[in-house]
Amino acid sequence: MLLKTKIEFLKGVGPQRADLLKTELGIFTLEDLLMHFPFRYVDKTKFHQIKDIGPYADGQTVQIKGILRRLETKGEGRKKRLIGVLRDETGAVELVWFKGASYLANSLKPGTEYVAYGRVTVFNNKANIPHPEMESLADNKAKKELTLAPVYSTTDKCTKKGLDAKGIRKLTAVLMNKLTEKDVPETLPKYILDKLKLPKRYDAVRHIHFPKNPLDLKAAKARLKFEELFFLQLRLLQLKKNRKDTLRGYPFPKIGEYFMTFFNEKIPFELTGAQKRVIKEIRRDMGTPMQMNRLVQGDVGSGKTMVALMAMLMALDNGFQAAMLAPTEILAQQHYIGITDYLKGMGVRVGYLSGSVKGKKRKELLKFLESGDIQILIGTHAILEDPVVFKNLGLAITDEQHRFGVKQRSKLWKKNKPYPPHILVMTATPIPRTLAMTLYGDLDVSVIDELPPGRKEVKTLHKYESGRLRVLGFMREQIKLGRQVYVVYPLIEESETLDLNNLMEGFESLSRDFPTPEYNISVVHGRLKPDDKDFEMQRFVKGETQIMVATTVIEVGVNVPNASVMVIENTERFGLSQLHQLRGRVGRGAEQSYCILMTGNKLSKEGRSRVQTMVSTNNGFEIADADLRLRGPGNIEGTQQSGIIRFRLADLAQDGKILSTAREIASRVLEDDPTFSKPHHAGLKAYMDEYSKKVKGWGRIG
Ligand code: ADP
Ligand code: MG
Repeated sequence: MLLKTKIEFLKGVGPQRADLLKTELGIFTLEDLLMHFPFRYVDKTKFHQIKDIGPYADGQTVQIKGILRRLETKGEGRKKRLIGVLRDETGAVELVWFKGASYLANSLKPGTEYVAYGRVTVFNNKANIPHPEMESLADNKAKKELTLAPVYSTTDKCTKKGLDAKGIRKLTAVLMNKLTEKDVPETLPKYILDKLKLPKRYDAVRHIHFPKNPLDLKAAKARLKFEELFFLQLRLLQLKKNRKDTLRGYPFPKIGEYFMTFFNEKIPFELTGAQKRVIKEIRRDMGTPMQMNRLVQGDVGSGKTMVALMAMLMALDNGFQAAMLAPTEILAQQHYIGITDYLKGMGVRVGYLSGSVKGKKRKELLKFLESGDIQILIGTHAILEDPVVFKNLGLAITDEQHRFGVKQRSKLWKKNKPYPPHILVMTATPIPRTLAMTLYGDLDVSVIDELPPGRKEVKTLHKYESGRLRVLGFMREQIKLGRQVYVVYPLIEESETLDLNNLMEGFESLSRDFPTPEYNISVVHGRLKPDDKDFEMQRFVKGETQIMVATTVIEVGVNVPNASVMVIENTERFGLSQLHQLRGRVGRGAEQSYCILMTGNKLSKEGRSRVQTMVSTNNGFEIADADLRLRGPGNIEGTQQSGIIRFRLADLAQDGKILSTAREIASRVLEDDPTFSKPHHAGLKAYMDEYSKKVKGWGRIG
């Protein structure tokens, strides 16, 4: 097969360039080259006049056509550079190269016609174009016919060996000349192409590199994006189906006494419609002899804990144990206290385990766990350690699951034999639907899309540093009314010391503004010992302190209903989802709550846009969408560990519609022909077989 040919055998490559293509760009075969798509196109029909390139054109990207008049090397060593002059009927401009000068000096031919493309800079009030891309019009007629020329990404090392954007374009052109329709087998059945009016694969790969016109290019992109998303979805849905068909679990057919007693007598409020629906979905999953793998997504405060608790009671009713895992000690303790409280008087035995449970206490706990005397275990990742053995773990829940690594989560599966426990993962980081479909495409997803009634929306305000005095006044006012205030500082690992200094300075300055004995301030950050952290937290929880200065350790889960004001410092340094999580810490009581976003007086465009998003909406999903748009999918919390959202062409922020279509069609294909054995699915099957081999290892995300 032509496309499997090694790249060194393509005319114009050779061993040295082949090495570069492999190490720098990951191009090993002709197929890899074919799939190295351009990232933009230059319109070769439009040219600037050189007379227009003056000092005021600084920073502008231009395309000019003219005769290369002069070419000389100047300077020595690091200052060595190649200077050329390009002239058209209207004037002349200098072109400069600092890198790859020797190579270009040999390959550019003065006296012949070139197209130069690049960005103007101005030096000593004179315009020049550094590192323009050069295209000879002297020898290649085909190039003249181009309307849209592809531009490829490359690296410095490649550029030095002539593999700049143009060099790669040349190689691709050589490949295109060899390529016939049978070299690029169709992967999608005709009925899908017809339905979506997509071009054939062969046409698409040709036109993505060398489009004859913008319409061809559009069609090619649409086809290739669809293909990319379609096969990923097909694979995810196939994994999900296989798992559902083969992974046995313990059926929990019974709704028994624990569940009913709690539901009829203990539950302190009416469940929301969304909570009821999700509980039903969980019940249906666990009623079958197949293992449940379900993600529950719900905004901060939507009441996920109650859903988790009722799911655990179902396990208990069927004679099994349940475990709930939280990412921090503070959160785990809060769950432990809350759940013990809910279950008071029901005779359910709840245990707590974290790294700080030691010695005799730990020994005893482990013993009771193994004997089944403890029915519900709540804790941190300490639960995952090997000495922690259950009698029969039927359900494992992870809260805020995006904070756990894939490895940690997979340990849960091994906590029971022969069948793994049912798995429920909960997250309050609302991720956009498109991303959820991809990241959790092989899980079942439930969404709690309703908040309990009577919540007052948090009022969010943006204040510049210059307005700080007014903010302090507002804090004083609110404290006088009996409320408490969080003041949150960013802290990231890379600048931990600096950030901590910042926080301590802020704390000292607040101590002057809010002096004892009238006011008391707690301070909590990651460098404190757990005991001290806890002591400071507790003072705030009990209302002994009015202000809590903290890093994002409070981000997840903490519940202090009387805290109704949150001031976030250096807001521009937080991600949107993180800000939303933080804001979820206020607005838990009956009082009107406030979130004040402090920023420096100067703010970047993106920074302003993010602050604006926070001010304008309280809806976690809208915020997640904005985050995806502003920062791209790679930066959304929880996606980093996952390689599966790296696409060649598709962009989850923009291609949501294509993705939905792809998923829908993939699901229908799988239903109609699960083994892809129908003749019209032959091309699809061949591709899937190869594709599945390539993307091994991302089966289990839950
Ligand atoms: P999250 O989804 O952020 O984990 P929690 O489970 O902590 O939310 O619930 C937030 C608060 O809402 C808790 O104080 C809880 O008691 C309360 N709550 C949960 N469900 C309801 C409901 N149906 N009606 C009223 N309050 C509820
Ligand atoms: Mg929660």
